[in-house]
Amino acid sequence: MAMAACSTQVAPPAIPKDSQIEQQVEAVLSKMTLDEKIGQMTELAIDVLGDFDNGEFKLDDAKLNKAIAEFKVGSFLNAPGPVAQSREKWQEIIGKIQTVSMEKIGIPCIYGLDQVHGTTYTLGGTLFPQNINMGASFDSELAYEAARVTAYETRAANCPWTYAPIVDMARDPRWPRVWENFGEDCLVNSIMGSSAVRGYQGDDPNHIPADRIATSVKHYMGYSMARTGKDRTPAYISVSDLREKCFAPFKECVEAGALTIMINSSSINGVPVHANHELLTKWLKEDLGWDGMLVTDWGDINNLYTREHIAVDKKDAIRIAINAGIDMAMEPYDLSFCTLLKELVQEDKVPMNRIDDAVRRILRLKFRLNLFDRPNTLSEDYPLFGSSEHAKLALRAAEESEVLLKNKDNILPLAKGKKILVTGPNANSMRCLNGGWSYSWQGHLTDRFAGEYNTIYEALCNKFGADNIRLEQGVTYKPESGYAEENEPEIEKAVAAACNVDIIIACIGENSYCETPGNLSDLAISANQSNLVKALAATGKPIVLILNEGRPRIINDLEPLASGIINILLPGNYGGDALANILVGDVNPSAKMPYTYPRNSAELTTYDYKVSEEMDKMEGAYDYDAVISVQWPFGYGLSYTTFEYSNLLTNTTSFTAEDELVFFIDVTNSGTRVGKEVVMLFSRDLVASMIPDSRRLRAFKKVELQPGETKTVTLSIKGSDLAFVNADGKWVLEQGDFRMQCGNQIVNITCKNTHEWDTPNK
Ligand code: BGC
Repeated sequence: MAMAACSTQVAPPAIPKDSQIEQQVEAVLSKMTLDEKIGQMTELAIDVLGDFDNGEFKLDDAKLNKAIAEFKVGSFLNAPGPVAQSREKWQEIIGKIQTVSMEKIGIPCIYGLDQVHGTTYTLGGTLFPQNINMGASFDSELAYEAARVTAYETRAANCPWTYAPIVDMARDPRWPRVWENFGEDCLVNSIMGSSAVRGYQGDDPNHIPADRIATSVKHYMGYSMARTGKDRTPAYISVSDLREKCFAPFKECVEAGALTIMINSSSINGVPVHANHELLTKWLKEDLGWDGMLVTDWGDINNLYTREHIAVDKKDAIRIAINAGIDMAMEPYDLSFCTLLKELVQEDKVPMNRIDDAVRRILRLKFRLNLFDRPNTLSEDYPLFGSSEHAKLALRAAEESEVLLKNKDNILPLAKGKKILVTGPNANSMRCLNGGWSYSWQGHLTDRFAGEYNTIYEALCNKFGADNIRLEQGVTYKPESGYAEENEPEIEKAVAAACNVDIIIACIGENSYCETPGNLSDLAISANQSNLVKALAATGKPIVLILNEGRPRIINDLEPLASGIINILLPGNYGGDALANILVGDVNPSAKMPYTYPRNSAELTTYDYKVSEEMDKMEGAYDYDAVISVQWPFGYGLSYTTFEYSNLLTNTTSFTAEDELVFFIDVTNSGTRVGKEVVMLFSRDLVASMIPDSRRLRAFKKVELQPGETKTVTLSIKGSDLAFVNADGKWVLEQGDFRMQCGNQIVNITCKNTHEWDTPNK
């Protein structure tokens, strides 16, 4: 085996140092007391600063004084309630906090909000599709633009920091946070996540302009891979998967300039991530040369003793987390964090240089955001807040992200003039379209706030004429309740209504949820919903199933009953309109499945499984290696037109790690409608010293083609992109053959020399 020289260079700083900012940081730091330093490391929930009076949140001077003047707290988060507030209210809240902070500490506060798919917590702002839809669009420009607009609108409410983007990867369909991510693949999460970072922050992380905000990429890392499939439970991840897949999106986001990172609440291989010095300090800060700031997730230092039992008490937990590399504690209620950390420093259990390092990172963030000179941003400087321009973008994102999965005998698009029954629990709900993190944490209050937008039923009335549409839901969710709570079904009413229509549009799936309240014990769709679809099918009327869900629910017995299926995922406030545009044919669907849709509850997989995990045979247009029985594979999605692939060529058939590999593929629109196609390049390492993945996505590009048009699409990768992480945790590219696949086209290429990296990152 020919072995090339190993690379040994140290990574340059992820974000180039700005000497002026560094001097400013040192100047402030040198004048700070220990109390002030610890206060900067503390983040509290807004509830600590006030109370509700007649439904309105009011700051309390005594509470402000205690937290800011006495304890010097440097960061606050969350919406009061937590429920969305008007821009005016945010100006009042954050404006007052800044005034007190500047007066009492001389250091601006950094306020953070979960504006994760648009302005979650700002009334009147724009809500985009959730990230799972952005992943399905396979359009990184959309992820960038949605983040840019979200940043702008977040600044209109005087907030400079969001806890986004989320790049945990949706690798387990049971997990209640699937929909917050860009799908199951690490490359898609890397590209979408880093595009979002640029959209939120702009191009210069040292100087965030007044219309951009700082990101907190989360939740570092491995959060989605819990053994139980439930929220905040332990994951057991191989060293290869950890670096090659889980770490990759975070690394890409850091390289795009991400200023902060939030930590996974749970544990990997028995070590809570909040206590993992190697992952926090070595991998992120040292290996990547990253000078950004690490914030805990909600109360997670406390969880080290209350839940994980790796610390004897709160003080011990603080010692472990801060020494592991945590810079800021999202406490979020208890000021004893400050007193206990001070004791730890005085007892030499947390070194002073660790405190200084953390505070430097926090001050640097505040300087990078220019908060010292501009602690507030005013609503009137953001005239495009909630504008029709932003609405158009949100609509386009929804249109590009709803996946057409079945279209038997071209039942879609629907001819106008048909009589339509709209049914199912998701048919008339803005809550369902938006999912969690919409006006509230659980998204359960959405129908109170989003009345001006169109549910599926309303959008169909607008598009097809109210006279042609009949609404009879048959199954309904309990309003403002837990996501799984349904009312007594009235299936017979829906069946009776079906007798007078030409077609049934059955909108099923899930109600909104977030985090632990979204845990489940059965992946099947609810029994009521299943019964509804079966009873409707018995009428003999054609059914189009609309899946509106945060994660895939098993529907293998319903799929054969439907002529058409569209998975709209969680498309946001314009998702109903987007669907109507697709159903009528004004928009040609172009999204692809961002995750593998399981067929059976006990056969859960991702597309990058090992070949030896074979479970069954299935056939499918895009599934040439089909060895696992799934409902729909990752990357699957239909269009109203057809595409053909030909002439896959490469600039070279043998390569080394340093080479650029360019692939050319002719894609032809062979149908009669203009359409967009996501062109995907997959690789398979044919023989490797560790069992290779069945396939890996290496590049993708979305292109638009007129009927009859052929485009040569170019996809470039580096030879080193085909490397993997071996059992010793080292990157290695091995000599031998790789099979590259694009559509139904295949070309083999050969790596000439084995190359092993002795640096942690390629
Ligand atoms: C969630 C985070 C979120 C934080 C602050 C936590 O419960 O896990 O994703 O950013 O709360 O709201």
